[in-house]
Amino acid sequence: MGHRIILLGIQGSGKGTQAQRLSGLLHVPHVSTGQLLWEAMSSQTVLGQQISAKMDSGTLVSDTEIDDLLRERLSQADCQNGWLLDGYPRRLTQAITLSQSFPPTMALHLQLGEDSARQRLFTRLICPQGHAYNSVYRPPRVDDLCDDDGLPLKRRSDETPEGIDRRFQMFREETLPVVRYYQEQRILHDVDASQSVGAVTRAILRHIAVTQTETT
Ligand code: AMP
Repeated sequence: MGHRIILLGIQGSGKGTQAQRLSGLLHVPHVSTGQLLWEAMSSQTVLGQQISAKMDSGTLVSDTEIDDLLRERLSQADCQNGWLLDGYPRRLTQAITLSQSFPPTMALHLQLGEDSARQRLFTRLICPQGHAYNSVYRPPRVDDLCDDDGLPLKRRSDETPEGIDRRFQMFREETLPVVRYYQEQRILHDVDASQSVGAVTRAILRHIAVTQTETT
């Protein structure tokens, strides 16, 4: 069985950035439910219309809307030897559903205070393919264009002051119980996400190496 890793953390803690780096290092796909939903939203389908208001306001979409999308993605061929999941589970019911069909091997909690996270989100830029930048901490090589695909970078529609507050509240109320759930299952590892991007990746790789040693 390959790595089946969950990345948990407040918005802005660097889950997407770390998932992209780790995906290359561990040779497993990065599955982001936010990205799956943004794609569904722009595809003009019934699902896209249903989720659009919730996504823009920073409210969580319902389990039925996300669970099918995720099951379909994790059943694809490239996910059979493992995956890195970013943005799911966001509430306890999702964690229980996932444990029944695709049990994770490890959960990582990228810990960051709300003030630092808010600061990062205000300066975050994103490309349509999900590559994340920060105009202060991680600017693109060419102004407002993605280094990987040259597509224009923009701010996310949910990154207004109200949207950010609502997403933080969702994290506190809905996702922190998920962190405790994995703690009780003894597969949770805490990582200090206030460090540099490289230091966070190294800390995660150390947790993975230790866990592998313990299980072999
Ligand atoms: P993200 O890019 O991970 O911040 O996700 C963007 C938005 O997608 C969230 O604010 C939610 O509206 C929705 N979303 C993403 N993942 C989930 C999930 N697991 N459950 C419910 N809503 C989600």
